[in-house]
Amino acid sequence: MEKNSSADAGSLIESLFKECGRYESMLSATKKGSDIWKINHARGEWVKCSEDAYTVIRKGLSFSELSGGKFDITVGTLTALWDYHASDPRVPDPGAISEARLHCGSDNIELDPAARAVRLKDPEAAIDPGAIAKGYIADRLTGAMLENGVTSAIIDLGGNIVCVGAKPDGSAFRTGIELPFSDRSEIIGVVEDRDICVVTSGIYERYFMENGELYHHIIDPATGYPASTGLISATVTGPRGSCCECDALSTVCFLLGEQDALSLIEGMEGYEVLLVRADEETVTSKGFALTEAAGGKRAGE
Ligand code: ADP
Ligand code: MG
Repeated sequence: MEKNSSADAGSLIESLFKECGRYESMLSATKKGSDIWKINHARGEWVKCSEDAYTVIRKGLSFSELSGGKFDITVGTLTALWDYHASDPRVPDPGAISEARLHCGSDNIELDPAARAVRLKDPEAAIDPGAIAKGYIADRLTGAMLENGVTSAIIDLGGNIVCVGAKPDGSAFRTGIELPFSDRSEIIGVVEDRDICVVTSGIYERYFMENGELYHHIIDPATGYPASTGLISATVTGPRGSCCECDALSTVCFLLGEQDALSLIEGMEGYEVLLVRADEETVTSKGFALTEAAGGKRAGE
């Protein structure tokens, strides 16, 4: 991060880390007392929220609509069951999966904009903002940096990258897109740009194996099982300030599969997508500017 002096930059970085903690205490589904936790534990009563939590939920609902319900922030009952944070994760019991699915669906969420309150019509339902919250936080951190006069920085919140401005020498930042399952050692190519968000959703960071099958953390709410769309990752890029959208869209694209993901993103001004198929072939939307690409394909080629 480039600021007027390294002392200034140091204290700003420290305050931004504190901000991350504050966002987590509003947006975490598991942290007791967070807005999301309160909604999930209110047994259907209205909960007045912070503006941040309300916005994340409202935006989450818009991506549910955009994806025909495949992206669903009410997958909380299912993601709790598929506990990837457990030391020894297991495939849940099919009966428990069927029961958890009954409590999913974004029409379970009711919003009261005037009171900035949220309630779950089904008291057993649970919100999981995991597919969108990191991107939202990255946008807020971007805003705080710009307000503080930062002209050159990279924010990296686990798969959510924001390049703020350009490198101190004025040249574009270079963000490598990792080849899935390559232990961070190989890249598919490089996105070379300034003021850009680059977000990847994939199955290779959080997964477990059971009886030779790979179980990952993006769940198809229609089946209750990890989504199987022939993709292993989806990377979405967008302009600075759109990391929340890129985060949600990368998960949406993963859930939609190649054809629907490409047609969705081709229709969205300012956004591009790169998909990696299970056979490790890559496909991109027409405007995806990948440099040093190792022989990927573009849509329509
Ligand atoms: P990551 O968190 O690894 O960066 P994503 O942005 O794709 O990846 O988010 C995956 C997380 O989103 C899961 O860990 C879970 O919390 C949540 N999630 C899982 N399935 C869905 C779904 N169908 N719709 C919305 N969120 C989901
Ligand atoms: Mg996401």
